[in-house]
Amino acid sequence: MTSTSKPIVWKEKERLDGEIVGCLTAILRTRGCRWDRCYMCGYTSDAYPASEEELIQQVDYVFEQLEDESVLKIFTSGSFFDDAEVPPKVRGYLLEKFQQRGLKKLIVESRPEYITDERIEPFKGVNLEVGIGLETASDRVRELCINKGFSFEDFKDAATKLRNYGFRVKCYLLLKPPFLSESEAIDDAIKSIVAAKPYADVFSLNLTNVQKGTLVERFWRAKLYRPPWLWSAVEVLREATAIGVEILSDPVAAGKQRGPHNCGKCDAEVAAAIREFSLTQDTSKLEGLHCECIEKWKKAVELEKYSRAPLF
Ligand code: SF4
Ligand SMILES: [Zn+2]
Repeated sequence: MTSTSKPIVWKEKERLDGEIVGCLTAILRTRGCRWDRCYMCGYTSDAYPASEEELIQQVDYVFEQLEDESVLKIFTSGSFFDDAEVPPKVRGYLLEKFQQRGLKKLIVESRPEYITDERIEPFKGVNLEVGIGLETASDRVRELCINKGFSFEDFKDAATKLRNYGFRVKCYLLLKPPFLSESEAIDDAIKSIVAAKPYADVFSLNLTNVQKGTLVERFWRAKLYRPPWLWSAVEVLREATAIGVEILSDPVAAGKQRGPHNCGKCDAEVAAAIREFSLTQDTSKLEGLHCECIEKWKKAVELEKYSRAPLF
């Protein structure tokens, strides 16, 4: 395997039935997402047109890295249930290995259009969680600000189908797509949690970061886009707990100009608190955080509210 055809693998902690356990996470190198049009997504730069045999080798490699982890997370920079990315034979091979090793939970991701009975049925009986990038419950924001190419109805149908098989649904939401102000972004995320709650077992709040070759990057370079404040994420996580959902967030690139950030001084501490909260769901991890920049954030949220007519 060359460096471009080798899966990226790392170990982390995951929640399993309220416990914190070891998780092996892998990004398989596939041909990448067939949609490939979302404004914030630069995942196809990781794509590699792997053949079926190469994907089987990648799966073998992933299982060789497994020690005492009980959760396996398989990402593909696209959709696990897209046959063009992960052929049925490869999914079947992975499932067989998963069962042989007696693992407790499998987490994958997919766009809704690939979630068909035929493709998910073989996983019956497995503790399977499928992440779907709904991003927002607003069809207008999803279409105009993200270019996602599917509707809330599509998400609901796919989520219902998964749950009929006893699988769990993880709903990804995007905090601060382009074109939304900081306050609109907070508002959109909270409204989305309320609207998607009946269809999701767990939420993952993804904080927009500026990926290479994307429209978001062009806006960011032109100073028309700033990634979300970490304080905004803290607010959404607090509200989400009050709404009564389980919610996770991994602030990728936190503290960097391209990632969600505050003032530079408090970023590491706030990002660590967000990660701690995600593992424990304990809101006390989000209390007591303070930095002088919180006033600046409050002003940014207020000012952006009044600086132009709301878009949505
Ligand atoms: S965000 Fe998901 S659906 Fe959109 S282009 Fe990226 S991988 Fe595809
Ligand atoms: Zn600060």
